[in-house]
Amino acid sequence: MTHTAPKTIFDLAASDMKPTRDFALWCDAHDPLASFRDAFEIPFNAKGEPLAYFVGNSLGLMARATRDRIKEELDDWSAMGAEGHVHGLRPWIKYHEFFRENLAELTGALAHEVVAMNSLTVNLHFLLMSFYRPHGQRRRIVMERGAFPSDRFAVHSFVRAIGGDPSVDVIEVAPRDGEECLRHDDIEAEIARQGDALALVMFGGVQYYTGQVLDIARITRAAHTVGAKCGWDLAHAVGNVALSLHDWNADFACWCSYKYLNGGPGAVAGAFIHERHHKNPPPRLEGWWGTNPATRFQMGPNFDPCPGADAWQVSNPPILSLAPLLASFDQFHQAKMPRLIAKARAMTGFIELSLRTRDAQHIRVITPSSTSERGCQLSLCINRDPVAARKLFDSLLPQGIVCDFRHPSVIRIAPAPLYTRFIDCWRLIEALS
Ligand SMILES: *Cc1c(COP(=O)(O)O)cnc(C)c1O
Repeated sequence: MTHTAPKTIFDLAASDMKPTRDFALWCDAHDPLASFRDAFEIPFNAKGEPLAYFVGNSLGLMARATRDRIKEELDDWSAMGAEGHVHGLRPWIKYHEFFRENLAELTGALAHEVVAMNSLTVNLHFLLMSFYRPHGQRRRIVMERGAFPSDRFAVHSFVRAIGGDPSVDVIEVAPRDGEECLRHDDIEAEIARQGDALALVMFGGVQYYTGQVLDIARITRAAHTVGAKCGWDLAHAVGNVALSLHDWNADFACWCSYKYLNGGPGAVAGAFIHERHHKNPPPRLEGWWGTNPATRFQMGPNFDPCPGADAWQVSNPPILSLAPLLASFDQFHQAKMPRLIAKARAMTGFIELSLRTRDAQHIRVITPSSTSERGCQLSLCINRDPVAARKLFDSLLPQGIVCDFRHPSVIRIAPAPLYTRFIDCWRLIEALS
């Protein structure tokens, strides 16, 4: 069968990829998602030129409609004060409900399994309270070595707070010597080894340092096989990779909204609680926003829970910190995750191929090469001494290229597909090689 010429970036075969500027321009001209960039405000340098922005995995860019969404809430507050709770354009009493459908779509959840609330580490603590229930000899938690520090702090302090000893109860699975990424076989083996002693398995869906995507269904199955619960930190996964939390049977998950979801600095985070835990819920820390809205304002003494994940809400939500997400979710909903994933694959493939063919031997991609094990982040290990690595990194920003550096010598780049162009990738390739 002969390969016909690709019509768009979505039908590029590996053999169509060329490590050239012209190819980058062709891709931008044949990118069905190209117009989404116009829906975002792109930071610029002193000369007014747009930056090539590769840190959408750290703080996503602002959707243009964000100002309007926030202004609508300010206007309601200004014009009607407390009445805005009921009579606002989007009544504040049920404001979190305006995020439900999009969150469910992005995470592969049923609508009543997700809720926008709190911030990520806060949600981790609340969900540990519900799903880490050590009893008898079943007290251990398996997680990754080199987890994002906040996750480790949360788990260790939580174990200590309920009388456990993290040095015994927390087991960390590490990559093998000389390797950067985890092996699923090693994770499964550790889970099996812990067996009856295992209470909880908790990993990041996408490892923040290496960009490795873990097989959530597989690890969750392994945890359940030995009778443990399984929870996921999706900070780097949501809005980046395909998720089916309901079908994968995760017990719980949480994520932040300021990375790929473009919710703005400190945006309100999200949580998933599988519906099988809704009817006879585990213990949880409760507050008035977890109660049935129909009876909430009777201010009675008894906790009458909302159905579903909403019952885990504690406080009334910060409206001004939620509003930006409406603007970003509109873009995700129109663009659709499968298309965003296809574009991200084309971009990471283009960057990797170009670095390889341009003799950039000082750069090694530590993110797994298989598309099922990577999202839109590439982690580039600079094979030089750390000072030279840092120097290479420091040369990027003056050229209008924004990446981030992780000790000792890794540059992380994330071409977020909603607003990144192939020509931006080309600028990065030229600057690195
Ligand atoms: C970004 C990130 C965090 C940040 O936590 P906050 O509570 O939102 O400040 C925590 N864990 C992981 C894995 C992250 O990637």
